[in-house]
Amino acid sequence: MQTKKISIVGAGLIGSLLAIYLRKQGHEVTVFERRQDLRKVDISAGKSINLALSDRGWKPLKEVGLEEDLLKMIIPMKGRIMHDKSGQITFQPYGKEGQAINSISRGGLNGLLMDKAETLGVQFKFQYKCLDVDFEQTSLSLYDGKTNQIIKFDLIFGTDGAFSAVRAAMQKLDRFTYSQSYIPHGYKELVIPATETGDFAIDKNGLHIWPRGEYMLIALPNMDGSFTVTLFLPFEGEGYAFESLNTDEEILSFFQEVFPDALKHMPTLLDDFRANPASSLVTVKSYPWIKNNILLLGDAAHAVVPFYGQGMNCGFEDCFELNQTIEKFGDDWATIFKEFNSTRPQNANAIADLALENFVEMRDKVADENFLLRKKIEAHINKLYPKRWIPQYSMVTFNSSISYSKAMAKGKLQRKIMDKVMSSPDITASWKNLDFELLIKELEEN
Ligand SMILES: Cc1cc2nc3c(=O)[nH]c(=O)nc-3n(C[C@H](O)[C@H](O)[C@H](O)COP(=O)(O)OP(=O)(O)OC[C@H]3O[C@@H](n4cnc5c(N)ncnc54)[C@H](O)[C@@H]3O)c2cc1C
Repeated sequence: MQTKKISIVGAGLIGSLLAIYLRKQGHEVTVFERRQDLRKVDISAGKSINLALSDRGWKPLKEVGLEEDLLKMIIPMKGRIMHDKSGQITFQPYGKEGQAINSISRGGLNGLLMDKAETLGVQFKFQYKCLDVDFEQTSLSLYDGKTNQIIKFDLIFGTDGAFSAVRAAMQKLDRFTYSQSYIPHGYKELVIPATETGDFAIDKNGLHIWPRGEYMLIALPNMDGSFTVTLFLPFEGEGYAFESLNTDEEILSFFQEVFPDALKHMPTLLDDFRANPASSLVTVKSYPWIKNNILLLGDAAHAVVPFYGQGMNCGFEDCFELNQTIEKFGDDWATIFKEFNSTRPQNANAIADLALENFVEMRDKVADENFLLRKKIEAHINKLYPKRWIPQYSMVTFNSSISYSKAMAKGKLQRKIMDKVMSSPDITASWKNLDFELLIKELEEN
């Protein structure tokens, strides 16, 4: 393969994995990152501290040789641990026995990817901000805090996140389709610290959820015994909102009323509430992701809300699929870009929509008895026909061989069938007598 001089803009999770793949293909890779090196300086503010890593992300990380390191960094979460208002706890498995999503530190994973990339010979240039892109010259305009340089490359990849400068330059071109939308809710990160003996204050084997309609709290475990807690709340409006939680009394009485059993594990609540920003949640869709020798990947191409835990996983899968396309077409970069751009965006759009839908499921439905029965029936059908009826959550989270768009289409059909099943008045008592074979046939005939 002909060695190319490649630049990647953004050394986040996706840019760092992409650098590994491209370097392994034998290319000369330089990554420009506007911030300092996160392995030396803590720059976690404003980003989620930990993330849920699932199959679509795991597969490429394993492919580039990181599985052993990952196993030392993860805490498997086997299901949702639901907390109702009275403090009652119920456990809902995410999938089958042995299936779990994995809590992992964002900084730890990003650092691991950078270390691996550097070992392979990738060059990272920190505190270089991309200001503009010349699509005819394949060049970047980069500012290092003192001077502005224009540097030419053979290929450029934009992995500079949801507010990408590379994408902003593409947006100025003709026939670039772009949408950006915010939900009314923002998020703020809080903490459940480890106990005095260094243990986890609550069960570490699941993703904790306190679903309260418009308000929701979740908690993911960290290796040091703490939990990163994320509060989702409308920015403004009637009822509780970030704009109306200002004084210590307001913050405390909100938690006392809505999340009392979480509050008792949050001794630093008031400090954390003040220290951490309320950040917005954006969905970005764009098309095409290519222009000449320049390609967008990760959040730069498709930012999604975090309610399916798939933004990073989807970006990692971008890298995996791009690598497969490179293996297929070798040096023919025009075809590689074209092929990738013809298949991948529709999948990113699908997970963007699914993530928005899942917000409603997480905050409103997971505590609903009908919903739980529906899940139970679906799990039963899946047990009877493991390959023919896979619940949508499992298709997205544990079956990377099923594309996001297929998972969305199949999930819609399953929902339609289940809506009919659930409309039967005595379903709670009679569901075991359903003709499951008929349901499967209905699914497969559509
Ligand atoms: C609250 C929250 C929770 C989440 N939880 C999950 C989860 O559980 N599972 C999951 O899969 N996903 C999750 N996500 C999504 C995930 O964080 C993103 O999808 C992922 O970070 C995207 O990685 P990226 O490398 O594309 O972009 P980013 O992580 O944003 O990295 C972009 C990099 O580019 C740099 N950069 C930006 N502009 C420039 C410039 N002009 N020049 C040079 N460098 C630049 C930035 O400094 C940054 O380092 C969550 C997101 C949020 C907000």
